[in-house]
Amino acid sequence: MNAAAALLAASRRIDRFDAEVLLAHLVGTDRMTLLTGPSRDIDEAGYEALVARREKGEPVAYITGWREFWSLELAVTPDVLIPRPDSETLIEAAQRVRGDHAPATILDLGTGSGALLLAALSIWPRARGLGVDRSFAALVVAAGNAARLGLSDRAVFSESDWGQAVDGRFDLILSNPPYVETGAELATDVRDHEPAAALFAGADGLDAYRMLIPQLPNLLNPGGAAIIEIGATQAEAVADLARAEGFRILLRRDLAGHDRCLVLTR
Ligand code: GLN
Repeated sequence: MNAAAALLAASRRIDRFDAEVLLAHLVGTDRMTLLTGPSRDIDEAGYEALVARREKGEPVAYITGWREFWSLELAVTPDVLIPRPDSETLIEAAQRVRGDHAPATILDLGTGSGALLLAALSIWPRARGLGVDRSFAALVVAAGNAARLGLSDRAVFSESDWGQAVDGRFDLILSNPPYVETGAELATDVRDHEPAAALFAGADGLDAYRMLIPQLPNLLNPGGAAIIEIGATQAEAVADLARAEGFRILLRRDLAGHDRCLVLTR
């Protein structure tokens, strides 16, 4: 079977874009080259195996092992949440709030794949960063990403439950904590494959904020900002927690117009 025939056959069972990404992965090229390059012969059994995994709901990023975030190619495994384009809102907010003042030190609380920290380090070439996570398996993924991106000399990863094991203060704090209500209905791809610890945060989805927001005043340098991802309906509730710690609050929306993060300053 050639590439075009393989795509047609798979597209009746899975999304066409997913089929293209999986086929490109199988033949070791990118989607554009696959679609515009010369026709190739396909390992049919190998392709069938990938399509069958996707058909059963496994996310494409876990099948290929890669996901792009902020134009960085990141390795992902089921130990880490797959970075979402929505979370790029936090990076844009960080650029806005810092303006010409590059942060010297950056902390990422619950770093997962390292996406937020590594994106920030790619923007500010003299900044240094610490990414913490409670999951050691996630830290291994994040450290691997830092190494592949040539950012290892400026990024440190260590085990910590939110800020508990973190010393010192930072100019910029980023966090995409779990914020889904336990028991909420999620797409089965997400629910059955992504790490529950990175998604669920108690009956109202606010448990992680209750832990980490009170830690922020002791982790932030004067003049610094903390940028925290929120669920689309959580702005009020999370803002209340932040106000109780004396923060000023700015809300930012994602490209879809949903409330996506709070920028906290003092
Ligand atoms: N936005 C994620 C979702 O698609 C949730 C991420 C999180 O809880 N931090 O469900």
